[in-house]
Amino acid sequence: MKYYAKPLSKLITELSRLPGIGGKTAQRLAFHILSMDEKEARSLAEAIVDAKTNMKYCSVCGNLTDTDPCAICSNPARSRNVICVVETPKDVVAMERIKEFTGLYHVLHGAISPMEGIGPEDINLKQLIVRLQQEEVDEIILATNPNIEGEATAMYIARLIKPSGIKVSRIAHGIPVGGDLEYADEVTLLKAVEGRREL
Ligand SMILES: [Zn+2]
Repeated sequence: MKYYAKPLSKLITELSRLPGIGGKTAQRLAFHILSMDEKEARSLAEAIVDAKTNMKYCSVCGNLTDTDPCAICSNPARSRNVICVVETPKDVVAMERIKEFTGLYHVLHGAISPMEGIGPEDINLKQLIVRLQQEEVDEIILATNPNIEGEATAMYIARLIKPSGIKVSRIAHGIPVGGDLEYADEVTLLKAVEGRREL
């Protein structure tokens, strides 16, 4: 990137580190940012720093939040006896979009993957067990992704929880196998939740 002056070259490099941003897109974005007025550019930079500084993980459910507990965990209108287990905070957003689920969440921050050496102790699973001991929970809905890792994780959690007598269900496969929950459209996701089967 020797054609660019240092500050521009650095901006392009940083942007190209973002997922899905190739060299050309990074260059286009960098030139766009330079064409913004000072106030706009500053506001973009501040939004990045502000989100990074003020967003944290909820100590109860593991979701991304600016308050602890998060807005969902501390909402008295949500039913506390159903917990939907998902892999990432983005999956919480996908579930919330369908506006049907009124229970609580638990975010695992990953899935069990023996191939990649990720075991049950490497995901946010212990905290789920703690919650089940502390709260009155009737049902766990396993909404991990319908791929090998997601299925393995769902089976592991089901086996772990079943002996306690809590109902454990798995969302139906309206979601294409190998697909990601976060990319499922709302109708598909709603059907998947409605058609969940007990494990
Ligand atoms: Zn929470």
